[in-house]
Amino acid sequence: MQPNPNLENAEALSAEEVLSVILRADPESRACVTCSFQAEDMIVLRMLKARLPEVPVLFLDTGYHFRETYQYRDRMAKEWALNLTNVLPKNTVEQQESLLGILNRTDPTQCCQLRKVEPLIEALGHFEIWFTGLRREQSPTRKNLKKVEQHRLPSGKTLLKVSPLADWTWAQVWEYTGANGLSYLPQYDEGYASIGCQPCTAIPDDPNNPRSGRWSGKKLECGIHTFSERAE
Ligand code: SF4
Repeated sequence: MQPNPNLENAEALSAEEVLSVILRADPESRACVTCSFQAEDMIVLRMLKARLPEVPVLFLDTGYHFRETYQYRDRMAKEWALNLTNVLPKNTVEQQESLLGILNRTDPTQCCQLRKVEPLIEALGHFEIWFTGLRREQSPTRKNLKKVEQHRLPSGKTLLKVSPLADWTWAQVWEYTGANGLSYLPQYDEGYASIGCQPCTAIPDDPNNPRSGRWSGKKLECGIHTFSERAE
């Protein structure tokens, strides 16, 4: 995929404008959005569905999510008529634990690789545009995130990775959520700030680093946003 001159000023655009410009620039490209049903994802999904009602929604179903997350996913899938794909690992939780033990305690990097990264790489192979709800403020590992990046998958295929909320603050996320009457995962009301698999998610000690509650602070990324290589 060649760099598109229309996208070079994406940083100056609002989230809605980024979506419009990207979709107008290449209407034939197949687009998807990854969604963990966190507040940012619901905002991107809402904006995207207004333009692409059938946009494929990829949920990495590790089998380790909170019961509340599965309930919210199912409710929103119905209420918003989502074109949802539950992206599954090769092995069920029971099979993996029987073969390799409880990796989220002994080797979370391998667990994330098997249950998130490998299934996502395979799923993304079908698309040319990947929308995300990532924000720079979420973690020191995301501080250089751009709204539009070209990424190369391990297969060599390149795709556009688009994060329209890259410059949004936590306050903006909740302003938008409230102003638009969006529902949200109930764990936020308990103090969680970044919500993933239950065994690896805690209420953060450091309010300035919302992802410090993930993996007991031992790591900040599961790998799904670091496996692909930025291609520009
Ligand atoms: S977040 Fe935890 S449980 Fe989920 S895939 Fe990674 S290590 Fe496994």
